[in-house]
Amino acid sequence: MAIFTVFGNPVAHSLSPQIHQAFAQQIGVELNYTRSLTSASGFSRAVAKFFRSGGAGANVTVPFKQQAFELVTYVTTRAQLAGAVNTLVPLGYGQLLGDNTDGIGLVRDLQKNLQQTLANRDVVVLGAGGAARGVIAPLIEHGVASLTIANRSRERAANLVEQMADLKLRAFTFKQLTIPSGAIVINATSASLTGHEIPIENNELANAGCVYDMVYGAQPTAFMQQAQQAGVATVYDGLGMLVEQAGAAFQMWHEGAKLDTQKVIQKLRETISG
Ligand code: NDP
Repeated sequence: MAIFTVFGNPVAHSLSPQIHQAFAQQIGVELNYTRSLTSASGFSRAVAKFFRSGGAGANVTVPFKQQAFELVTYVTTRAQLAGAVNTLVPLGYGQLLGDNTDGIGLVRDLQKNLQQTLANRDVVVLGAGGAARGVIAPLIEHGVASLTIANRSRERAANLVEQMADLKLRAFTFKQLTIPSGAIVINATSASLTGHEIPIENNELANAGCVYDMVYGAQPTAFMQQAQQAGVATVYDGLGMLVEQAGAAFQMWHEGAKLDTQKVIQKLRETISG
């Protein structure tokens, strides 16, 4: 049976095994998908050992996506632009291809939720960490009209914009941020994980046409609640992104697989809301 895993720390909470088992069932294959807890110093050894012992593919989650980028032999263009890898594909002879499916996961979920493409929409990304970095190029590829990055520390936002110089981004702090009317505001910070709001005034946030928080859980996240209080009617969490990025990774390992991601999202939502 083909063996897959997700490397992370912590990783016990990861829903990836459930998601990949559900996809495998949909296309009628059997696989074993485990969670691999590893340390920063043990990460590259753990990856090498996994593939030496016949691993068919692996995902990488927090905090190893940048380490994975350094480790692989080849990267896809989207992983190159992200500077981070969340999917490992063995190529034989000890070589690995690294991909990053976070961005396409977000785009697929957003477009499904909005029931329209992202073409000509103004987009604001809050955050300048790995998750923000991963979604920038796919958002631009999908034809957004403008893309603004805002982060707690301006320096990190400015660094990101500088590294992606060709993409014509603008960097702000939350206080400087102006949200274009009707914009899609994506929270790519981890603030909701700790229940923190983002310091954006209600009357500014109210300009958003919709809000998407990459964090997910049983209840609306802190940022979803903040947006609702500001009067934004359309808010989404990141559960769909999680499933869609997993779907795109699954398709890297099972070429041509046709997946019903919505069915998996619904099932997971029922599970997490108990
Ligand atoms: P990083 O640690 O790389 O970056 C964290 C970001 O959050 C930084 O921009 C940081 O700002 C900001 N931040 C942290 N705390 C606060 C706060 N209290 N107020 C404002 N900003 C804050 O994390 P990642 O980019 O890898 O992940 C970000 C989030 O995205 C995580 O919650 C993760 O779970 C989620 N995610 C979800 C996915 C999904 O499939 N749904 C996929 C990938 C990520 P600063 O630079 O100032 O420190």
